Amino acid sequence: MSIPVSAHEVAGGIPVRPKDIPHISLVIAVPKELAPGECRVATVPDVVQKLTKAGIEVRVEHDAGTSAYYEDHLFTAAGAKIAASRTELLKGAQIVLCVQPPDADEVDQLGEGTIVIGFMNAIHNLEVIAQMRDRKVTAFALELVPRITRAQSMDALSSQATAGGYMAAILGAENCPKFFPMLTTAAGTIRPAMVLILGAGVAGLMAIATAKRLGAIVEAYDVRRAAGEQVRSLGARFLELEINAEGQGGYARELTPEEKVKEQQMVSTAVSQADVVITTANIPGRKAPVLITRETVAKMRPGAVIVDLAAESGGNCEVTQFGRTVREKGVTVLGPQNLPARIPFHSSQMYAKNLQSFLTLLIDKEGKLVTEFTDEILAASLLVHAGEVRHGPIRDLMSGGKA
Ligand code: NAD
Repeated sequence: MSIPVSAHEVAGGIPVRPKDIPHISLVIAVPKELAPGECRVATVPDVVQKLTKAGIEVRVEHDAGTSAYYEDHLFTAAGAKIAASRTELLKGAQIVLCVQPPDADEVDQLGEGTIVIGFMNAIHNLEVIAQMRDRKVTAFALELVPRITRAQSMDALSSQATAGGYMAAILGAENCPKFFPMLTTAAGTIRPAMVLILGAGVAGLMAIATAKRLGAIVEAYDVRRAAGEQVRSLGARFLELEINAEGQGGYARELTPEEKVKEQQMVSTAVSQADVVITTANIPGRKAPVLITRETVAKMRPGAVIVDLAAESGGNCEVTQFGRTVREKGVTVLGPQNLPARIPFHSSQMYAKNLQSFLTLLIDKEGKLVTEFTDEILAASLLVHAGEVRHGPIRDLMSGGKA
């Protein structure tokens, strides 16, 4: 059945179903996230409303949004059906939206041809990828969405890094024994805190903006010189060091061993003068670069704080332990896990919008699922399909080769 798109409104890029046309049998399921500490949900009532207006049936698992403060009744009011069990949720669903990759038990419940969309963390999840391949599930990995202009609204890495960068500055302030802003009070004048941000990508820029808003003096450094202009536009000072390592596609390249030592030495002085250091340096697909050695931590001011956002990929500080807070010579070193989940209302809202945009590529003008994933964004993010791993580096890794 065809829907004359031009004749009616479009809801968030998805055609609205005219009243005289029967319900289209596309079913989208949104499970409750089961990973420990995961408070986000893959859709929110606003997005549900857009999808249901387009004639899509949206099923949300009971309590899926509760940890993010989207209660079941809000989803119901937006047109979703609440599924009491996983079986009820998944029965006949063509698309499953998730935040974290499904685990083995969840994949077992997916029927052949089901499309799963979310973060897949493929490199650390090879067994589940193999299981999805064998069950002929189709998986799109949002972390593989190319960072081209057309895909900006689908860029979940950026939306969640924004949430992470914000929370890193808040955690820095919470753990710092000093005020961030300058204060002139009857009890004397307080000097502003010095905050240093290492790595000025999406998370780093948000951390800069947040620390500035809290009144700190902010300095930042990135191996990409191009980041300097963005740092300065936020009112922070950019540390002009000698290394420039702009790599492919706007990302940083890995430094040579000599450059690494030089960088650690250059960064050391700025680190030792800071009250809070927020590190966000990452190189896609590689271990995070070590920017702060144990020796440098020993030179820091007592009470200084490091918030290491690269903890999951190995850490930018030698002292960091992923998911833990360590105290070393009077310095507090945080290696937080899943910071976007600590601000779940808004990180879910942003993530849900990213998925809504992504869905516009999968649902055609007639409200049907596309069968050819030839669109550049779909092709790049297609991880598993029709019994094959479609992403070359992951396929190579699974067959014992190098990613
Ligand atoms: P990321 O998370 O991969 O890395 C964070 C930052 O760490 C980067 O800025 C990187 O240059 C820096 N870094 C890496 N090694 C370093 C080192 N040894 N010392 C200091 N800093 C180091 O980056 P990201 O936040 O995902 O962004 C990466 C790039 O992609 C940026 O240029 C960003 O502007 C760009 N981007 C583009 C789009 C788009 O839609 N076009 C969207 C998001 C990001």
